[in-house]
Amino acid sequence: MYWEKDIETMDRSKLESLQLTTLQDTFIKAEKSYYYGKTFKEKGIGVSSVKSLSDITKFPFTTKDDLRENWPYGFIAVPKEDLVRMHSSSGTTGRATVVFHTAKDIAVWTNMLTRCLYMAGMRKGDVFQNMMTYGLFTGGLGFHYAAEKLGALVIPAGAGNSKRQIQLMRDFATTAVHVIPSYALHLSTVFEELKLDPRKDTSVKIAFLGAEPHTEKMRKKIEEIYGYKAFNSYGLSEMNGPGVAFECPYQEGLHIWEDNFLVEIVDPKTLLPVAEGVEGELVLTSLQKEGMPLIRYRTKDLTRMIPGQCACGRTHRRIERFKGRTDDMLILKGVNIFPMQIEKKLMDIAGVGTNFLIILNRQGYNDDMMVKVEVHKQYFSGDLRQLEALRKKIVEELKGELLITPKVELVEPDSIPKGEGKAVRVIDNRKD
Ligand SMILES: [Zn+2]
Repeated sequence: MYWEKDIETMDRSKLESLQLTTLQDTFIKAEKSYYYGKTFKEKGIGVSSVKSLSDITKFPFTTKDDLRENWPYGFIAVPKEDLVRMHSSSGTTGRATVVFHTAKDIAVWTNMLTRCLYMAGMRKGDVFQNMMTYGLFTGGLGFHYAAEKLGALVIPAGAGNSKRQIQLMRDFATTAVHVIPSYALHLSTVFEELKLDPRKDTSVKIAFLGAEPHTEKMRKKIEEIYGYKAFNSYGLSEMNGPGVAFECPYQEGLHIWEDNFLVEIVDPKTLLPVAEGVEGELVLTSLQKEGMPLIRYRTKDLTRMIPGQCACGRTHRRIERFKGRTDDMLILKGVNIFPMQIEKKLMDIAGVGTNFLIILNRQGYNDDMMVKVEVHKQYFSGDLRQLEALRKKIVEELKGELLITPKVELVEPDSIPKGEGKAVRVIDNRKD
């Protein structure tokens, strides 16, 4: 049931004292980097300032901008020749940031992700098809190494090429996949095209959904189409990549591996800690990284800590599945909107297909939102009144959720462009 029972079920007080030791160690390592060396000196702080875990709040936050401004080597804490790998963020917002690893960093990351895969039920003997982009993006090599360490047979399929994905899945009886949720939905339309039923014509039992925050509705829809169990995976390249937090079979939040990370949740405006169970921005300090340790890194991801212990017996706390990033939030007519709210509503409406796109426009001083929604093919043949009725229903549902009235256009399946990576959900044409 556990990959590393001692660590996964470690008594909280023992876990916290381990965190303190590794935190102090992290400060000693971090100080060797150009950026932290300079910052510690300026603020008159250092390892001697850390007597307890709560002393972390004496230190300033590290942001993505700090990483960009000290690009490329300002954060490395070991001689460059000790680095063995670099990865970069997917650059969802702004310039991509780079992260460097020593051999030990890769081993620690791999082991932590192996822990996740084992927790979700993957075992030696499984055939694992990794449908993520290989290369600078961490989802490819990260999962690849972990699945091999577990002893699975790995098919490094990479992203895209949908017909070949299906062929591989069928020819080699794939039992587990790693896939971007919006791509899983897109792939289901290709199964349809080939007149195949993913439930009957494949052997996949487990899917790891990563790289894209998604709603519970979307998970359910994917599980229904494929007949497998889908697990939510969370990570960010600045903290290795996938494997930071992961669902166990109880799926009541994601266990965050506290032997690797010191976790804080702060109010994104005041930057002060929130009370337990209250939503805020996730802030992480790496506890085991040596190539590029990061202290109080602001992830921009919004979540909350789930109180209480999980029935699976793991003592590492759980964070709630992600509602979105502070960066993703749209402001329209003074109203805060997350694209995930729209996804959640759409996934509930019968007839809605697998993709949607939000377009924001400005005319004079008036902003408006257009939501393009793919719907099932049959709506476009025969009685078009049904199409109009569905459109009106979607407008009403979104209005109820968002408190503003969006324009809605219904389009045929596959008419919204779909790349190989994360889905593009928002196009903002508003110019100041
Ligand atoms: Zn659990």
